[in-house]
Amino acid sequence: MPYPDWIVKEVRKNKTDLRGGASLKTADELAGHRLRTVCEEALCPNKGRCFSEGEATFLILGDICTRACSFCAVTKKTPLPPDPGEPVRAAELLKKWGLKYVVFTSPTRDDLPDGGASHFAKTVSEIKKLNPGLKTEPLIPDFNGLRSALETVLHSGPSVLGHNIETTAGLHEKVRAGADYKRSLELLARSKKIRPDIFTKSGIMLGLGETDAQIESTLEDLLAHGCDLLTIGQYLAPSKNHFPVKKYYTPEEFSDWGQKARKMGFKAALSGPLVRSSYQALSLYRAARLKVYGN
Ligand code: SF4
Repeated sequence: MPYPDWIVKEVRKNKTDLRGGASLKTADELAGHRLRTVCEEALCPNKGRCFSEGEATFLILGDICTRACSFCAVTKKTPLPPDPGEPVRAAELLKKWGLKYVVFTSPTRDDLPDGGASHFAKTVSEIKKLNPGLKTEPLIPDFNGLRSALETVLHSGPSVLGHNIETTAGLHEKVRAGADYKRSLELLARSKKIRPDIFTKSGIMLGLGETDAQIESTLEDLLAHGCDLLTIGQYLAPSKNHFPVKKYYTPEEFSDWGQKARKMGFKAALSGPLVRSSYQALSLYRAARLKVYGN
């Protein structure tokens, strides 16, 4: 299915941004610190915009995933052991960049006994140690439902705990091999129970063949399981071998879903064709804080 005009326009603009000096500098500094980003590994269409503004979402724990979701561009085979120097290098680069907020994520690491939770926690701690005041948002895999792994991450004190539901219950089996809709919801609910002071966040992609009723039901499920923040974006197939796009939603439809989500009770929601889980994460966090704490 060819890209609609609104996607083509954005992708072109991003390509121009990518050739700019600021983007090249961001890419150089990431390489200099031996850090990967999900912006590159997942072929994010916002890379030009974010890199030109000195923003990136780190991909910790390597670039190889132990699962095989049919929507995802990350490589699937046997991963390497965690790099113990990675959390400090991330903290150092963030200090250099002077950012106020950072999102970092990992491929699913079912090969590690704690799913990589201690590496996530170490990354939060090292970032906070070197960058007091910087807010962190670990976007975690489901750790196979292991409570102790979730606790490890939460006890490191992130500002937001992210875990994406990605799609509706009915499409989970087709699109997210190895994942489980209920397990993801339970993770969010458990996080809220263990640390009610930490915002929970999730994201859903549209365009995989879901109906409006299924989207609404997924948003209801997320709210019922304590999810505070939400992102809604268009699924774009990374290649012809990935799950095909079934529908391109218009910018107006995205805007309607964003409004609906806020009305339903999310503390903040961002919705648009190129919205990704880490897109404008600081603004979303600030909107939620304003709503809950008035600051
Ligand atoms: S939206 Fe997120 S993943 Fe995409 S380029 Fe920006 S920071 Fe990276």
